[in-house]
Amino acid sequence: MQTYLKQVTPDSLAEAGAIIRSGGLVAFPTETVYGLGADALNENAAAKIYEAKGRPSDNPLIAHIADMDMLEEVCTDIPEEAYMLADRFWPGPLTMILKKKDIVPNETTGGLDTVAVRMPDNPVALELIRQSGTPIAAPSANTSVRPSPTTAQHVYGDLDGRIPMILDGGDVIIGIESTIIDLTSEIPAVLRPGYITPGDIEALIGSV
Ligand code: AMP
Ligand code: MG
Repeated sequence: MQTYLKQVTPDSLAEAGAIIRSGGLVAFPTETVYGLGADALNENAAAKIYEAKGRPSDNPLIAHIADMDMLEEVCTDIPEEAYMLADRFWPGPLTMILKKKDIVPNETTGGLDTVAVRMPDNPVALELIRQSGTPIAAPSANTSVRPSPTTAQHVYGDLDGRIPMILDGGDVIIGIESTIIDLTSEIPAVLRPGYITPGDIEALIGSV
């Protein structure tokens, strides 16, 4: 497969959106790391991510959304805390685990009845999600043995020949992964530390 490394333009964004809609893969920048994206609601597309990364398919993916309508499209039983956290930290490097709707396939969630959701703070990522018209499942855009990529060149060096397109939106700003909080447990729990600290979260919703 030929891999096209493209600067972000209206044309390349439209092309990338068309690839996502048709079930293909596009690597794109978020503020944390470069992501390897596919339609989060298309089971075949999500499966392609595991294949390209060489990642075990029971490892769940984060669904990236562009607005709160998309949150309600993929999640149900959304607690008040989720809206408070979204209001304060989205767009940004906070991933929330919530109960999934049936529309989200098992390939995206690794068979779980919950889904990880986040709104990235990167204009290219947000515009790609809008153009695709669907939440985009995206782990870091590296094969499983390599570190998470912070430049489009890193992605190209690792995934050349495995994916059709890389959108070059410049270097990422944060370079570490999002904080993950589980809001489906009785007491919200931080599952993965990240840029946003437990203290930041506790200040808003109480102890975690
Ligand atoms: P990343 O590799 O940065 O894309 O992060 C994906 C990680 O999010 C997974 O390895 C899990 O640790 C976590 N994750 C995603 N979905 C869920 C979920 N439904 N429940 C718990 N953890 C999840
Ligand atoms: Mg990773």
